[in-house]
Amino acid sequence: MTALCDLSLTALSRALARGEHESSAATEACLARAADTKGLGAYLLIDAEGARRQAAAADLRCRAGQRLGPLDGVPLALKDIFLTAGLKTTCGSRILEDFVAPYDATVVRRLKDAGAVVLGKLSMDEFAMGSSNEHCAFGPAKNPWDPTRVPGGSSGGSAVAVASGSAFAALGTDTGGSIRQPAALCGVVGLKPTYGRVSRYGVIAFASSLDQVGPITKDVSDCALLLETIAGHDPKDSTSAPVLAASATEGLEAGVKGLKLGVPKEYFVAGIDPEVRTAVERAIATYAGLGADIVEVSLPHTEYAIATYYLIATAEASSNLARYDGVRFGLRRDPGRGVRDMYLQTRARGFGPEVKRRIVLGTYVLSAGYYEAYYDRAQKVRTLIRRDFAAAFAKADLLVTPTSPTPAFRLGARLADPLQMYLADIFTVGCNLAGIPGLSLPCGFANDGMPIGLQLLGPAWSEATLTRAGRAYEREHDWSRRRPPLARP
Ligand code: GLN
Repeated sequence: MTALCDLSLTALSRALARGEHESSAATEACLARAADTKGLGAYLLIDAEGARRQAAAADLRCRAGQRLGPLDGVPLALKDIFLTAGLKTTCGSRILEDFVAPYDATVVRRLKDAGAVVLGKLSMDEFAMGSSNEHCAFGPAKNPWDPTRVPGGSSGGSAVAVASGSAFAALGTDTGGSIRQPAALCGVVGLKPTYGRVSRYGVIAFASSLDQVGPITKDVSDCALLLETIAGHDPKDSTSAPVLAASATEGLEAGVKGLKLGVPKEYFVAGIDPEVRTAVERAIATYAGLGADIVEVSLPHTEYAIATYYLIATAEASSNLARYDGVRFGLRRDPGRGVRDMYLQTRARGFGPEVKRRIVLGTYVLSAGYYEAYYDRAQKVRTLIRRDFAAAFAKADLLVTPTSPTPAFRLGARLADPLQMYLADIFTVGCNLAGIPGLSLPCGFANDGMPIGLQLLGPAWSEATLTRAGRAYEREHDWSRRRPPLARP
């Protein structure tokens, strides 16, 4: 028997609509699962009382025949980077440890307006900087398939909660892979939408030319549903685009016959784990069997993607994080020796080592004398990377790649070597640099039982094609229906 919290979001939604289950029961099931899996560290904050209240209200609406839509009564959770009125938002940092925002992020508002139940706030790398969730100031989250391994990052808590059934879905953010990589490492689905598709109003900024908000879900259908709820123009975010993109829920089951799938040859080189390679090659063969045309494409500037990303992302981060000065938000350390000392003490105490490393790097690449050599050049290479993708999409509708070069690595394995950690992002950062959407979905398991992720990339505003192609593959396998052992009742 499947426990209630192991249903997919779509299955729960249908059951709620038919009156077979109540939101209150689904919410209790998630809270109980969160308590049972507390050791995985998915949640930084659980708002049990608020969630129960919202669930009771959803049940009343449902009984009165006034259900608001498919998300009404569905218990969800949020990466702790989204501002929530009345609930702490720490961004995984000591500097915001006690920060309570005065308003909800637009995406949070949209979920609440749709009747979703907000269970709480999820663990993440500090300020979303990391690929393992180990840079969270409040302890790492752990992979539910093997708690001695990382769940990926920076939206690690989001992937852990969804994979272990303590939330039906979660929202994450993705600047260089932070939705797709943890989704891949935890065996769930994650989508980074097109830059501008989802509002970032009320989302704590890391690197503003790269950041996007997106869903982490148990399967592709859930992903399409959640995307539809959060996407769309927001007058409060000047970078959100007034574009009416195709619906991701309509045509979801239409298959991939005749779709051209490009395989970038630069993504299948040395360094990729052989089991990851085999799983992705099998997925490509499955697509061919489903009637897709497989073509080889080239993204010649791939080897520069990591360097380009870590120059631009750190430059933007150093500027975005200047606002945490002890004056306006969160922590203040003021020994009374003047304002300069207060800034120093606050930032020295409030930021962790990875955040400091990035601020120093970013400040350096923007400084007089180095700006042209680093930041300016990185922007030029970014244009070349964008053009690589444009040329590839002239030959193919979508690209198929691995999400991460390896399955989940052991906790601690890369902590002492930042470069090694940055290399986990090799296949994901190009998508952010180009502003295009990317979907990660499970495509198998390594011999040691760890999940492997498949990445689909598409041109701007092609989310509907991505989810359609993802769904076509998902129908062929039960990867998305497998749950980690800890989550079994
Ligand atoms: N792992 C990448 C980094 O550390 C990406 C993070 C993200 O997407 N937020 O910057």
